[in-house]
Amino acid sequence: MPKVDLIIFGGGVAGLWTLNEASRLGYRCILLEAFELGSGQTIASQGIIHGGLKYTLQGMMTGSARWIREMPLIWRNALKGAAQPDLSGTKIRSNHCYLWRTDSVSSRLGMFGAKMGLRVAPKNLTSEETPELLAQCPGPIAVMEEQVISPQTLIANLSDTFADQIFKYDPEQLSFQFDADKQISSVQILTPNGDSLTIQTDAVLLTAGRGNEQLRNLAQQQPSSDNQVMQKRPLHMTLVRGALPQFNGHCVDGAKTSITITSDTDSQGRTIWQLGGQVSEVGVKLNRVELIQHAAQELSVSIPGINLSGLEWNTYSVDRAEGATKSGLRPETPQILKEGNLLTAWPTKLALAPRLATDIFQHLHDMHIKPTLEDSSWKASFSGLSRPLVAQHPWETVEDWMTLEGLRSFGDVA
Ligand SMILES: Cc1cc2nc3c(=O)[nH]c(=O)nc-3n(C[C@H](O)[C@H](O)[C@H](O)COP(=O)(O)OP(=O)(O)OC[C@H]3O[C@@H](n4cnc5c(N)ncnc54)[C@H](O)[C@@H]3O)c2cc1C
Repeated sequence: MPKVDLIIFGGGVAGLWTLNEASRLGYRCILLEAFELGSGQTIASQGIIHGGLKYTLQGMMTGSARWIREMPLIWRNALKGAAQPDLSGTKIRSNHCYLWRTDSVSSRLGMFGAKMGLRVAPKNLTSEETPELLAQCPGPIAVMEEQVISPQTLIANLSDTFADQIFKYDPEQLSFQFDADKQISSVQILTPNGDSLTIQTDAVLLTAGRGNEQLRNLAQQQPSSDNQVMQKRPLHMTLVRGALPQFNGHCVDGAKTSITITSDTDSQGRTIWQLGGQVSEVGVKLNRVELIQHAAQELSVSIPGINLSGLEWNTYSVDRAEGATKSGLRPETPQILKEGNLLTAWPTKLALAPRLATDIFQHLHDMHIKPTLEDSSWKASFSGLSRPLVAQHPWETVEDWMTLEGLRSFGDVA
């Protein structure tokens, strides 16, 4: 029976980052993925390596901001290939984000607050330096060294080095076995040729995003009566494609980012804009047509003079899965729950994945689970298992793109 130190369930940014770190530290570690790597939140995310802007808009240095402001340097070095994990194969969409505001007094205060707590404060641009797209915006335009990465290439990059430790399995055919102390002793899965494979392990880590809930029910001999360990916060995101510049930035309205724009190029070479921020929170209550209408209105207000004709629009819905908070608001930090030798984790933000991995190793250390790797011969036991694919960005899979002109002609848009 094969034996490992750690089995990770779920290959989003959290699971894959931890697999990389664990393997480099010498843990015998495998990752089991039920669907496609990154499917769920990571592939749907905007890929911004936040440095704390969102959390300092009220001029206060909150717990989240303190943690998150340390992340950009870790990512920058990894993305350069100057630190592990080597992320030099990850596409950097931009090394900076623009920051501007709508013309309200509270927005001006918000911009001021944003400068206070950041390691790298936004730098005001001269009119010559201002991108043409923002030429008609009121007030100062700033730029911040906030990197934006392509989530799909990140997942591909992170799953590359230890690809022979990442396997696809059928979650319907999964079971956990327990020892006399109610600790998980092994995990049983089905191999592609229909045989069952039992894998002994010292610890199990769940990083399956919203899938953690179902896995926890299986992985606890006596499932806890407290179901409120995870919260889901929905977002309804807008996609726009067509004749648009590559652009990444946040429009600040008061203490919120009214709209956050990130850009990429789709498989047909078209520019794609992903619209997040407040517009995607409001969008949860709107249907697809209503959200497209609202997002178009928000873009026109945020970027005076923008030409939206001929662009194609779409939306997608996705839940953020996080450790539960009493308020139901975003947790301040990455969340890890320890029950015996079962760890359940949510990074809270993609940018916080390195911090989550560090905390997980602290837990393993406290649990006296040490790396036992001597050579790579242990991997031979898993050679019959198959490899998962990397998920596609949402704009490659959503259907029925619409134009504003088309919506108007059907009377959907006033
Ligand atoms: C729209 C959106 C935009 C965002 N933008 C940003 C941003 O710009 N910057 C930022 O820092 N954060 C952002 N976030 C937050 C960030 O995406 C998440 O915090 C992070 O991606 C969560 O990663 P994860 O690995 O925990 O989960 P996920 O990415 O959800 O990955 C879970 C993995 O587990 C797999 N899985 C599911 N069930 C099972 C099972 N039973 N067994 C095995 N595997 C399973 C899934 O297929 C998937 O591969 C955004 C989130 C959303 C929703």
